[in-house]
Amino acid sequence: MNKNRALLLDRDGVINRDKAYVWHIADFEFMPGLFPFLRNVRDGGFRVAIVTNQSGVARGFYTEQDFENLTAHMLSELRREGIEIELTLACFHHPEGVDAAYKRESFWRKPNPGMVMEAARRMDLNVDTSAFLGDSLRDLEAAQAGGIGKCLWMTSPDTTPPTGMTVVRNFDQALAGLFA
Ligand SMILES: [Mg+2]
Repeated sequence: MNKNRALLLDRDGVINRDKAYVWHIADFEFMPGLFPFLRNVRDGGFRVAIVTNQSGVARGFYTEQDFENLTAHMLSELRREGIEIELTLACFHHPEGVDAAYKRESFWRKPNPGMVMEAARRMDLNVDTSAFLGDSLRDLEAAQAGGIGKCLWMTSPDTTPPTGMTVVRNFDQALAGLFA
């Protein structure tokens, strides 16, 4: 029986400020409050992974290597804060891409559950006891389709969430939702 539980996180708008197609290290700005939040998440027994749509590659804005360079920077900054991210998955495809190598639909692209399922497989997760935190509805749709038990949508508090999702306004509420 799978026994690990994890918090899966979207990247843009959750880990870092969403400035649309961020790939320059100079543009990568961690969200305020992220570090203590993730320390609490890990101390509470959750593994942590990131699953992110990166259609900027398909659109020709940046390359997979640019993404990998930024990811290495992100992970090393987080490690300096005592936070270990076990897995980072990205989907570079988009049906309207300009780069033929990436121009297609993908089961990995959220709201499809491919990345959630892949993270669950690689990390040997119990999806029922795992959680997802995202700032876009499609993040949580992917999480639900992947069977994730706790779907936390970080958005404005007046949003009415679909059944099975919880709206949280900030990291404090996300933490409360995670351990509720
Ligand atoms: Mg996002």
